[in-house]
Amino acid sequence: LSLRYVQNEKAEAVNHVAASLAHEVRNPLTTVLGFLQLMKSGTFSPEKTNRFLEISMEEIRRTEQILSDYLSISKPAASIRQRLELISQMQAVVEVMTSYANMNNVALRIRCPQTPIFISGSTAELKQLLVNFIKNAIEASKDVTKGTVEISIREEPPHVVIQIEDNGIGMTEEQLNRLGSIYYSTKMNGTGLGLTFSYQAIRAMNGSVSVSSEPLSGTTFVIRLPIAGG
Ligand code: ADP
Ligand code: MG
Repeated sequence: LSLRYVQNEKAEAVNHVAASLAHEVRNPLTTVLGFLQLMKSGTFSPEKTNRFLEISMEEIRRTEQILSDYLSISKPAASIRQRLELISQMQAVVEVMTSYANMNNVALRIRCPQTPIFISGSTAELKQLLVNFIKNAIEASKDVTKGTVEISIREEPPHVVIQIEDNGIGMTEEQLNRLGSIYYSTKMNGTGLGLTFSYQAIRAMNGSVSVSSEPLSGTTFVIRLPIAGG
């Protein structure tokens, strides 16, 4: 049994990149600052101090990861729409996300046609939205045994269909209904901005998203985008 839900119009405008960066970077900075203050007081054993240093370094590494998620793959260019090739863009995104998948013990697989598929959109926005879906799928699968995220691309003229399937925690119907609402997140360090931005970007490309999910069994997102004419 699988729930099916087709996204409606509800995403609000938001400067996604700036807002989510501010959100996600503030927490680790606060943590590191706290540990520096503790260490400055100088009343802790070398073992304790060492532990503080380790946590601080881990937090800084995490911050670096967050920044590279956002910056290395999406140069914040103006969202000019152009003709672009989907498969090579997807492959670039998968390459970037593979380390994140490995870090979380999740297998990331991709299946796509050998021939190029052209769409119309902004490269930066396309990459950002693909990252958002893949990142969520990895995060949903990280605690299950044999966590797997499978990405596939196929043509169904006049659309290209991008499917992102995970065998992770899944969602209840109530959770499905809240998807895409700004700041909706069930994660400790979530921003709840990823899908808001992604739905918006897909709509701007005249595409659509549908999702089916089942708690404890997994989630499949299906994104349809118009194929660009010659
Ligand atoms: P964030 O990832 O910061 O929480 P998103 O907008 O990317 O924000 O996602 C919003 C919420 O949607 C997540 O917190 C999670 O509850 C849910 N979600 C999104 N994708 C998945 C998925 N593949 N499996 C389970 N839940 C998901
Ligand atoms: Mg997310």
